[in-house]
Amino acid sequence: MIPSSDCVISVPVTAASCKTGQQVFAATVTRIEPHQDAAVVLELAVDGAAPAFLPGQYINVGVPGSGDHRSYSFSSAPGEGDLGFLIKKIPGGLMSSWLARAKPGDRLELTGPMGSFYLRGGEGPLLFLAGGTGLAPFLSMLEVLARAGSQRQIHLIYGVTRDQDLVLVDELAAYAGRLPNFTFATVVADESSNHPRKGWVTQHMPGDMLAAGGVDVYLCGPPPMVDAVRGYLDENGIRPASFHYEKFTPNAPLKATA
Ligand SMILES: Cc1cc2nc3c(=O)[nH]c(=O)nc-3n(C[C@H](O)[C@H](O)[C@H](O)COP(=O)(O)OP(=O)(O)OC[C@H]3O[C@@H](n4cnc5c(N)ncnc54)[C@H](O)[C@@H]3O)c2cc1C
Repeated sequence: MIPSSDCVISVPVTAASCKTGQQVFAATVTRIEPHQDAAVVLELAVDGAAPAFLPGQYINVGVPGSGDHRSYSFSSAPGEGDLGFLIKKIPGGLMSSWLARAKPGDRLELTGPMGSFYLRGGEGPLLFLAGGTGLAPFLSMLEVLARAGSQRQIHLIYGVTRDQDLVLVDELAAYAGRLPNFTFATVVADESSNHPRKGWVTQHMPGDMLAAGGVDVYLCGPPPMVDAVRGYLDENGIRPASFHYEKFTPNAPLKATA
């Protein structure tokens, strides 16, 4: 299209994104905390100035000695001392195997920040849907909302496969104390689990919140979970005020199952 007169172009991104740009950063591992066989909390101190990023964005982390990288969403908020990540343990995975032998003091190279999945401004209700370590970007968003003293209605549904995949629930409970209108529900898919809420995230959607309308929906997790939720919203005619999603697409092709 060629404009034939003066025109105003509206770009639907926050002004804060103008202050973020991709760079290469050297970083040192400061903390590695495994959560059984489910996940690892990784914290890094960046040499010099830390990356400016938006809550929800990710960065590429080089896997030492491999020439390859993996993408990870920040679980820490912009401006915190160390960068935080929540990483799923994949048996035999390239990064997972490195993390299993990593220790504080190890060095990493980061490239970023990247991504258009980040928390937008506004005052309307927020529905956060996390699958597994897809919780990471929501921890960053919740911290930013808590710091800002947000009064927004926020409901997070955190769905996992097994009981032991539910990690950092204590951090969510702490946000429930800091954010007056924040509630969350954990959901476990494993049929043998005794968890009070079983099944999939889509079986625990907040009907009243969605019926009231005006909800900004943010969704993050493995591709099958993201696709299932998108299908659910379509099939049920749910039209959020805005809808944003991030798929944790593997870099390596999925292993064929027998
Ligand atoms: C934008 C973006 C952000 C991401 N943020 C995060 C994050 O915050 N936390 C996080 O844990 N992951 C995140 N990921 C996924 C991450 O980048 C890696 O794909 C994941 O950590 C696996 O890396 P690996 O080197 O351990 O395994 P790989 O060596 O990549 O994979 C080994 C094998 O396992 C399979 N595999 C990979 N992932 C899975 C899975 N989830 N379930 C089953 N099989 C799998 C692969 O296909 C391959 O066959 C993100 C991905 C993207 C694209």
